[in-house]
Amino acid sequence: MIRPTREEIREAAGRIFGVVRRTPLLASASVSERAEATVRLKAEHLQRTGSFKVRGAANALAFLVQDGARAVVTASSGNHGQAVAYAARALGVSARVVVPTTANPLKVAAISAYGATVEYAGVTSQDRLERAEAIARAEGIPFLPPYDDVTVMAGQGTVGLEILGDFAEVETVLVPVGGGGLIGGIAAAIKATAPRVRVLGVEPEGAPKASRSKAAGTRVILPSTETVADGLRALALGVHTWPVVESLVDEVVTVSDAAILDAMRFLAIRAKQLVEPSGAAALAWALNPARPVAGQNVAVVLSGGNGDPALLSREPV
Ligand SMILES: *Cc1c(COP(=O)(O)O)cnc(C)c1O
Repeated sequence: MIRPTREEIREAAGRIFGVVRRTPLLASASVSERAEATVRLKAEHLQRTGSFKVRGAANALAFLVQDGARAVVTASSGNHGQAVAYAARALGVSARVVVPTTANPLKVAAISAYGATVEYAGVTSQDRLERAEAIARAEGIPFLPPYDDVTVMAGQGTVGLEILGDFAEVETVLVPVGGGGLIGGIAAAIKATAPRVRVLGVEPEGAPKASRSKAAGTRVILPSTETVADGLRALALGVHTWPVVESLVDEVVTVSDAAILDAMRFLAIRAKQLVEPSGAAALAWALNPARPVAGQNVAVVLSGGNGDPALLSREPV
């Protein structure tokens, strides 16, 4: 297993300093009361570009620049595209971001506003990936992956270091799981420093790739996924993230879309924090009626805030 080491994550923190923000760890009495626990919220929705993805993107890009890259290409209509565009501008390289023809115009506008060139290709993630790889080959520039890379994981792991630094009493860390870069990095940081702290993954019932993989003991590839949390829709963990999740993540649990939307609304109304569905998934587990984290010191990663505000008024299901 190639996990980022504690030193690599520490070095990543130094490398991305100034490009990313050290986000606050917020206390919310209403959240703690409802979870019957001492809950702290890691506010990555307040991160530059609106999600943690800029940490991994900036770290990976710094290595590519060190190896001589002057340009980079990626494929993402969402938070990773914005993160790469932002990090590229900060590091003085040009970025090309391949998005689907159906991409949200607001997200496309944000990517262009950070100075990246937007390219449209098809509607599926496969269409985007093929186009980005073709550009990478034709132009001789590197492709920057959203999660399946050890330098990306090391960047995301800086979230774990900051949680430990701000909340020494933490007992459980709840992390949303998409392709596994965020939780892989956080688990590597935490298990290397405080191995008794539990790291729990949370994913939507409609996209249970990590919980199924843990149960099967092998990397499961789902035929399809369906969830309101668009950052957690990956069909599978990556070939590099899976072994890290397998060996370092204590457990992966699932939550319904209804619970995710409820957690999102609770955060907006009671804690005054506007997060996107993927960013509310981990909290949805803490607010589960069975109170699974009752009595514990819990850090919950609010991973991003780039949601469609219309979701706030969607009828509870
Ligand atoms: C990408 C993303 C995730 C999932 O991260 P992975 O590294 O793919 O597991 C969670 N939340 C938000 C807001 C994201 O953008």
